[in-house]
Amino acid sequence: MYTRYTWSPPARASVAVSGSEERFPVRRIFCVGRNYADHVREMGGDPKSDPPVYFTKPADAIVASGATVAYPPRTANLHHEVELVVALRSGGSDIPAGQALAQVFGYAVGNDLTRRDLQNELRSKSLPWDLSKAFDASAQIGAICPAERFGVPAAQAIWLQVNGEDRQRAQLSQMIWSVPEIIAGLSSYIELQAGDLIYTGTPDGVGPLERGDHVRAGIEGLDEMEFRIAS
Ligand code: MN
Repeated sequence: MYTRYTWSPPARASVAVSGSEERFPVRRIFCVGRNYADHVREMGGDPKSDPPVYFTKPADAIVASGATVAYPPRTANLHHEVELVVALRSGGSDIPAGQALAQVFGYAVGNDLTRRDLQNELRSKSLPWDLSKAFDASAQIGAICPAERFGVPAAQAIWLQVNGEDRQRAQLSQMIWSVPEIIAGLSSYIELQAGDLIYTGTPDGVGPLERGDHVRAGIEGLDEMEFRIAS
């Protein structure tokens, strides 16, 4: 017997795999907030005082490299945030940090698009961030590079340019919480699964995007990613 749905369900969100015809099927998107000390400071926080902040985006917020993204409604301060994205091949609960990298399928360059004005307003009222982070087309991502080819996150450069000018430039080694610590931490709250993506936080230099802007972003060893904000 096959399942009869009330209407045809949408196709599963998926991401290109570098050097392969296969695609990575996305199950869920988790994100880490405040994971680079200089970015925590630019947002007015203290890097050492807080545990990692986790939040989510819907899987269908994924946008492939090369797309044009509409300027979203209900914001006048749309920010870019370049991030290392971890793609899981398997998961589990309470994964020890020492076994975390064995769950990783690969890595990609991502952008956590953010309605900064709305985020600040919600945060000031101690309300959930959801609509400032988890909106349509808010998760840009480049092709996923298999971990066997990339190696492990270390001192690789991470950068983002708007209209050809540097806005963000750092090294993955500046992350406060490492990829194994993030996987271990998240898996203490929920059971991670194959297909889950984790956006691991952004370095300092976040800033506004305007209509017509062209964004390019990269991490040493991964395929570059680009997108445009519609005019
Ligand atoms: Mn972010």
